[in-house]
Amino acid sequence: MTLPLCLCPPSANGLSVEPVKTFFSYHKALMQLLHGAYFGGLSQRKKLEALLALCGDLLKTDSVSIWSMSLCGASLNREFYYQPQSGHHYISYTLLRAQHPLYFNALEEAEILFTHDAIQDPRTQSLKCSYLGAASGMASILDAPIYDGNRLYGILSLESTEPRFWSLPDIACATAFADTISLINTHQAWLNSRKELDYITHHDDFTGLQNRHALQHRMQQLIQEPAPNTFALLWFDIDRLNAINNALGGQVGDAIVSEVAARLRGLLLPGKDMVARVGGDEFALLYSWPDDDAELAATVASIMDMLHQPIDIGQQKLTVTTSVGVALYPRDADDINSLLRCSESAMYHAKACGRRQAQFYNQAVSVSAKARFLLESQLIDALANQGLSVFYQPIMSADLQTLVSCEALVRWCHPSAGFLSPAEFLPLAYEAGLIAELDSWVLERVCQDIKQARAQGLCMPPVAVNLSADTVMDPLLADKVFNLLEHYQIQGGQLELEMIEDAIKEDSSTLPDTLTELVRMGIKLSIDDFGTGYSSLLRLKNLPFTKLKIDRSFIQDLPHNPDDCAITLSVLGMARGLGLAVVAEGVENIDQEQWLQQQGCHYLQGFKYHRPMPVSDFFALLTADMIS
Ligand code: C2E
Ligand code: MG
Ligand code: MG
Repeated sequence: MTLPLCLCPPSANGLSVEPVKTFFSYHKALMQLLHGAYFGGLSQRKKLEALLALCGDLLKTDSVSIWSMSLCGASLNREFYYQPQSGHHYISYTLLRAQHPLYFNALEEAEILFTHDAIQDPRTQSLKCSYLGAASGMASILDAPIYDGNRLYGILSLESTEPRFWSLPDIACATAFADTISLINTHQAWLNSRKELDYITHHDDFTGLQNRHALQHRMQQLIQEPAPNTFALLWFDIDRLNAINNALGGQVGDAIVSEVAARLRGLLLPGKDMVARVGGDEFALLYSWPDDDAELAATVASIMDMLHQPIDIGQQKLTVTTSVGVALYPRDADDINSLLRCSESAMYHAKACGRRQAQFYNQAVSVSAKARFLLESQLIDALANQGLSVFYQPIMSADLQTLVSCEALVRWCHPSAGFLSPAEFLPLAYEAGLIAELDSWVLERVCQDIKQARAQGLCMPPVAVNLSADTVMDPLLADKVFNLLEHYQIQGGQLELEMIEDAIKEDSSTLPDTLTELVRMGIKLSIDDFGTGYSSLLRLKNLPFTKLKIDRSFIQDLPHNPDDCAITLSVLGMARGLGLAVVAEGVENIDQEQWLQQQGCHYLQGFKYHRPMPVSDFFALLTADMIS
């Protein structure tokens, strides 16, 4: 169907002068709006409103509206509606394809739909009954398509109550406005997807907190500010979450993580900058550092108190504790990665010192690169020149209270600081890549001591030696141990090897073979600090361990802490199911002892019986045992 256009006579060069002039005036007005100082800063909604208003005013129509087509093309929905007489309206309206098939087809087929008599035009006639009712009284319609890429997104619709022959400038102008709307929508969609991507890359889906990436970004900003801020990075780790997962189920663990996240998020603390989830059960908090360590320590203690309040989980109340590492910018480190390392290592230090505490990054041990370098070289020296020693702590049978085995624990007799415990120098040994060498040294020293005991006619019980992840993952470990046993003429049954869950969590193709080889030599294998790591029981089941050592942190509040009782009972039950013997570490009093005996724990280790002691004292103890 040909629809009449109002065309003016052509000029001498073939173009009609008036329409061209009119079109340019429209175009100029549109450009002025788009390039106006304020337009770029408007929201998408305000931009579209401004465009509709300009279009309506320029073309002097009775209304201008934007309609969006539903994704399946079944309906058109009015989103914006402007009447020059009365302004913007937000009365929604929907047209269904089922009721107006010709109109919908025409919109899809025609690039632009215009009619001076909508009531008579077969394409728009169906609108008469509903949309073009008496109230609306629309007589002429001009619809220009708005695209979203190749898809018809919707239309820009101009309506007039008087019959109107749409001119070429009208059509060109409507098309220019519709194209501008397409561009604005596309730009907005791009901004939205960038925001979404930004959200995904900066947030943790489970808690909704920001993630490690966002934390690093924020720290970078704080450091780069013209007057850089001093701030503290607090690193929180929920103690023993894995044990809770194992004993009470993953849902309980998840509920605890969300509650801790919610408490940190809701924490009202002047100077709090941001909270991020930086690991499964680890959170970081950036905090303007008050430049007063005592004040900062008090603040950290109050945050920990708040986190340690009981958590309601269904019918139960659970109390969790956290270990916290604190690192200060710029005092401890002046770049992001070092600062992250400092606070994480301070947190590990807090864990090594018994958990449920905060540790500032240890200035004394590693404040400056120079001091660290010195300490590292002293440790290398100690390794080479017998500066380390091995203490022995007896392990007792739970029923008869007799000494059945012992654990070898390394000590460093530091030239100026005196005896250092492993918590004070093992992190450095790890960082400096000396841990495997240290383990080898301890292993050899233990073999020498066993040989020495034999030479003295003492009955040395099996000795448990702790191995780090680096040592356990060494494909040559079994060979090295074999050589030591040969060299010192020792039976494999004289040795036990302890490793923490995290040391065996990595997937290594050689690990099962190494462990099997060791067991073949008669060596027993134990999982140390059970309940503090992340191993899955299924994995343990497939590896040749024969003992579990329950971490001291579960034992210390027995039998008064119901959570610890539940967890310890569940570990004992699991161990029984897997045919493993259980050692309770850190037994200090009779209440713990009795409870553990009643629950069928096999072995007990702790200060209640003996503290770790130098080899000479241990030999004296063995001698006394033999005499009595
Ligand atoms: P671990 O293997 O769990 O050793 C038990 C720790 O608990 C020892 O701390 C021991 O002194 C302490 N302990 C035992 N009974 C009690 C008690 O009743 N109360 C309290 N408060 N503590 C008790 P230590 O000697 O400081 O060793 C800490 C950790 O350092 C060890 O934990 C082990 O993971 C690691 N470690 C020690 N020696 C070596 C080694 O030669 N190589 C490696 N890789 N790690 C070692
Ligand atoms: Mg151990
Ligand atoms: Mg242990």
